[in-house]
Order: sequence, then C-alpha cells, then structure tokens
Amino acid sequence: MQLITVGTVAFDRIETPFGIAEKTVGGAATYISLAASVFLDKMGLVSVVGDDFPEGVMQQLRDRGVDLEGLEVMAGKESFFWAGRYHYDMNTRDTLETRLNVLLDLDPQLPEDYKQAPYVMLGNLDPKVQAKVLDQMEERPALVVMDTMNFWMDSAMEDLLKVIQRVDILAINDAEARQLSGEHSLVRAAGKILAMGPKYLVIKKGEHGALLFSKDRVFFAPALPLEDVVDPTGAGDTFAGGFIGFLARSQDHSFDNLKRAIIVGSALASFCCEKFGIERLLEIDKVDIDQRIQDFVELVDFDIELVES
Ligand code: AMP
Repeated sequence: MQLITVGTVAFDRIETPFGIAEKTVGGAATYISLAASVFLDKMGLVSVVGDDFPEGVMQQLRDRGVDLEGLEVMAGKESFFWAGRYHYDMNTRDTLETRLNVLLDLDPQLPEDYKQAPYVMLGNLDPKVQAKVLDQMEERPALVVMDTMNFWMDSAMEDLLKVIQRVDILAINDAEARQLSGEHSLVRAAGKILAMGPKYLVIKKGEHGALLFSKDRVFFAPALPLEDVVDPTGAGDTFAGGFIGFLARSQDHSFDNLKRAIIVGSALASFCCEKFGIERLLEIDKVDIDQRIQDFVELVDFDIELVES
C-alpha cells in the first residue's frame, strides 16, 4: 500500500441556500481516498459502514485503486449519517444532526499489508481511533497527516494532543486552529500548534484559500474563484487527499514541494464544490486536473518591479 486512510464513510444530508441533497454519499475517508487516487493506485481505507452502504460506490472506490479490506461492513446496522446546512456565504455551516451508528463500534484492525504503508492520512475521527491506527504500523511511516475538528477538542482534548504529538502535518481549518491554540492571530496560533509536535501546519480557510506554516516559513495559496459553488461538503477532505496523494507520489517532503501539494489540494477541492457530494470527483480526469492547476498558476502569477528610492 502506498497510502492508508482512516476516516468516516458516510451518508450526508446537505442543505444549501440553492438546493438540497437528501441522501448522498460522503465521509472524510471517501473524499480523501478519491482525491488521492488521482496520484496513487494502491491505497487502503480503514473505516466501517452498515449493510445499507451501496456496493456500487464501494466498487467505484475499488476501480480507483482503493482497497477495502480495511472497511468493515456491519450486518444489520446503519452507516454514519451527518446532516448540515450551509449559510448564504457557503463558507460556514451548521451541523443539524450526527448519527454515529456503526462508528460507535469502530475498532480498527489493520490488514497485514496496510501495516507497512509509508503514508498515513488520519481523517477527522475520534483521536483514540486515530492513535490505534498509528499503534498498528510496523514502522514509523514516512509521513503522517492528520485532520480533526472542534467536536474532539471539546470532548477529547487530552487524547487529541497525544495524537498531534505523533504526526508530521496537521491540516485543520482556521476556526479549529484558533480553538486549539487559544490564539486569534493565525500566525500566533501556528507557532503554538507547531510547538505541540507537528513539523508543518496547514490552515484551510475555505473560499479564502490555505496557509502552510513551518517554524520559520509561511506560504499562502488562494482558492479558485468559482462561478457556482454547489456544495462545499468534503472540500477540506478532498484538499487533504490531493495534498497527501501528491506527496506520496513525489516522495519529496521539502517545503517547496509542500507548496506544490497545497496548490494541487486546492485544485482538487475546487472540483469537489461544483456538484453535490462526491459526484464531481467521480467525473474528472487528468486533463481536467492539469487545466485546473494551470488556472491556479495564472491566478497568482504577477511581475513587479520595485521603484528605487
Ligand atoms: P468537510 O466538508 O471536508 O469538513 O467534511 C465533510 C464530511 O465529514 C461529510 O461527508 C461528513 O460525513 C463527515 N463528517 C461530518 N461530521 C463528522 C464527524 N463528527 N466526524 C467525522 N466525520 C464527519
């Protein structure tokens, strides 16, 4: 396996000011794996679903190189369900309902050939489950990227801090960075979070792009201005999947390559927003992605000549 991902595989109900999807497939691990599959062909997915989860979607994942031996299917139980409503700016949302269902019983047991994976993506989940995945790795992976959310900061801060200590890159949104650090300034927040263990911090800011921090450097990538944002659900996970997939493909963890990975993640996330759920991610091909990355290059390209005083 080149990469293993742990996270939710879910059904979502999504309300935006412009439309509703009553029951669409989502989940952090679903988005991450689909995005990473652009760069990789041997990935493992660690999660749990009920027997209500469509076989057709599992096959679409397998077709893209995502092995599902690590996905437990629990008979007679329902998959994780999340419902959310977006505000008019489509950048903020309220969670209307979270039904953990099968997630309550998730006790990840890694298949043998997952245990040597060099790249590990810890999607947003109970930090105890994230730690259990790391505990089962035979060697320290080359790179561990982690996501989390306010829910775990409120309910499991001690466990969360223990996992954060063990990862190379933490990728969270701006509100989460502020909550985790207790700092309003994102620069100060980054300083505090990097002191918790990770070598790099990515702060995702939705339609306002993403920041990459190391101890002494910072890089910013904008989000592509889209004519229509249909559904931003999964954009953060798609970003993370593209980011780690690109790094796993290039096996270069230098700051300059992380900058490229941020652009690639942003490009993939922009597709994710164009349709509900995972629909758009299933449509795009290499040509679409290359064109979108080129759009990013043009978006930030400028020359300047400083006037001498
Ligand atoms: P994102 O928009 O990238 O933050 O991720 C959206 C996905 O996260 C949805 O498809 C949900 O199924 C999933 N999700 C929502 N709440 C949680 C939670 N508490 N834990 C794990 N995954 C969640």
